[in-house]
Amino acid sequence: MSSRTVTLAALAALSAFAASAQNRPAPPATPRIYIFDNGAIKGLDPKLFNFNREELKEVDFVDVSYLIVHPRGTLMFDSGEIPDSQFKGDGQPVVQGVMSASKPLLPQLAAAGYKPADITYFALSHYHADHTANANEFAGATWIVQKAERDFMFGTPPQGAIIQVDSFAKLKNAKTKLLDNENFDVFGDGTVVVMSAPGHTPGHQVLAVKLAHRGLVVLAGDLYHYPEERTTGRTPTFEFDAEQSRASRAKIEQFVKDKHAELWIEHDIATHASLPRSPKYVD
Ligand SMILES: [Zn+2]
Repeated sequence: MSSRTVTLAALAALSAFAASAQNRPAPPATPRIYIFDNGAIKGLDPKLFNFNREELKEVDFVDVSYLIVHPRGTLMFDSGEIPDSQFKGDGQPVVQGVMSASKPLLPQLAAAGYKPADITYFALSHYHADHTANANEFAGATWIVQKAERDFMFGTPPQGAIIQVDSFAKLKNAKTKLLDNENFDVFGDGTVVVMSAPGHTPGHQVLAVKLAHRGLVVLAGDLYHYPEERTTGRTPTFEFDAEQSRASRAKIEQFVKDKHAELWIEHDIATHASLPRSPKYVD
């Protein structure tokens, strides 16, 4: 290869890099949360959650995922319930059992200005299939996971219910920040903190995000599914360890109280009815 070819190749690479950098929005001055619409879960039996129908205001779930954009990088939290590959491109919703979605995830991410290669960190609240659908898309990011969760996900055979191993198989070789039942300050300034909250699964985690305008928000994953779990103390029938769940809930509730935080239950229709969907954001 001549030096001229090398120079041209370098220039091409540089301009491609510049183009991709241009497409990406400039980092915001303070953190933002984008909320993606990943569909719904309908027709669940409330008894799975130790409730009778009349005890719940709303039985159905929303399914969402979140992009946190911080001045120093990005974090994708969860990844939906239906893989983008299942959409036929005809605008029709995709239904898989109790799960249904009308929009794939990556076009929503693109509308906010980002593609998977722009994602610095990826974290799952937990490994259940309604959170992992597009996890493989983020295997180029640094995966933040509790050791107990990862051991379950990649055990032989994989352990646990509601697991769709194919959806996250690529995470096995991702650059990984392995946590041992501990919290992690993602960008080093205390504004985005992964918090260990085991019980629903062995390494379930929630995400605390300090927003300049809205204040502190805790993305609660499946620490709860229904607001009624918060008031009654009931846990689902399929918890990995209900005792551990109660301890995690007590810890997070104390944190929410001490810090005057909001708690967003990821599947709660009422919580997300009042929040904007991407490309709008909360900051
Ligand atoms: Zn869930």
